[in-house]
Amino acid sequence: MTDSIKMEYSLELEKGFNIIAGPCAVESVRQMEIIGEFLNKLDIKFIRGGAFKPRTSPSSFQGLGIKGLKILGDIKDSYGFRVVSEVLDPRDVEKAYDYIDIYQIGSRNMQNYPLLIEVGKTDKPVLLKRGMSATFEEWIKASEYIAMGGNQHILLCERGIRSFDDYTRNTLDLMSIPIIQGKTGYPIFIDPSHGTGRKELILPAVRAALVLGANGVMIEVHPEPAKALSDGIQSLNFKEFELLLNNVKKLEQALDEDMVEL
Ligand code: PEP
Ligand code: MN
Repeated sequence: MTDSIKMEYSLELEKGFNIIAGPCAVESVRQMEIIGEFLNKLDIKFIRGGAFKPRTSPSSFQGLGIKGLKILGDIKDSYGFRVVSEVLDPRDVEKAYDYIDIYQIGSRNMQNYPLLIEVGKTDKPVLLKRGMSATFEEWIKASEYIAMGGNQHILLCERGIRSFDDYTRNTLDLMSIPIIQGKTGYPIFIDPSHGTGRKELILPAVRAALVLGANGVMIEVHPEPAKALSDGIQSLNFKEFELLLNNVKKLEQALDEDMVEL
């Protein structure tokens, strides 16, 4: 393995480009087995999947809760993945602890201070997404609530902000990469799935993130996006994900070969 950034007890991020992939939500044992097998074959180390889902409508699928966490735990044991999953409530933090490796704090909860304080008391890394209307200042201050409790294992994730144009689901602010790297020592991830809401924009966004020096990306993948219980429209199918991965590898190689000091 190349140089790595030591984050905590056993989580190592590669210094290059890290890929977190998986479905928006954990839907069933079978769904996660299919995805786990596929991602493992492609040597993906980080898997995502929401057990607790923050949904705009209370009548939409809210996630499988504890059952979903157990499914994630089993997938982790089968393949040795690092599991990323969202917590919505301070009470979820303890429930999720044994099943996951990275706590995700979603956009809607970036300023949920009791939740930030609770994950800050743990020794597991926290992926803190940018609030959809948060300034850099507010985002960084939110990370301080986590660090305050002693947990410095923080990853920041740009997932787009609300703007006037609704052609894309959000406006993916790629300037987060140099800005966050300049202002904090934390790794910065890009989520083009929620950031654009459009499958065809995921590859260009990932290419841009790689060139700009992001530490990684988080991408939604589903075996049958049309049947997904959430965010099917923006989820890549397996073929599309493989194509994206090949593209990333080629670009990484080209950047390595032609790297010039600017
Ligand atoms: C997610 O990653 O599943 C999610 C809900 O994202 P966000 O908080 O960025 O909307
Ligand atoms: Mn989603």
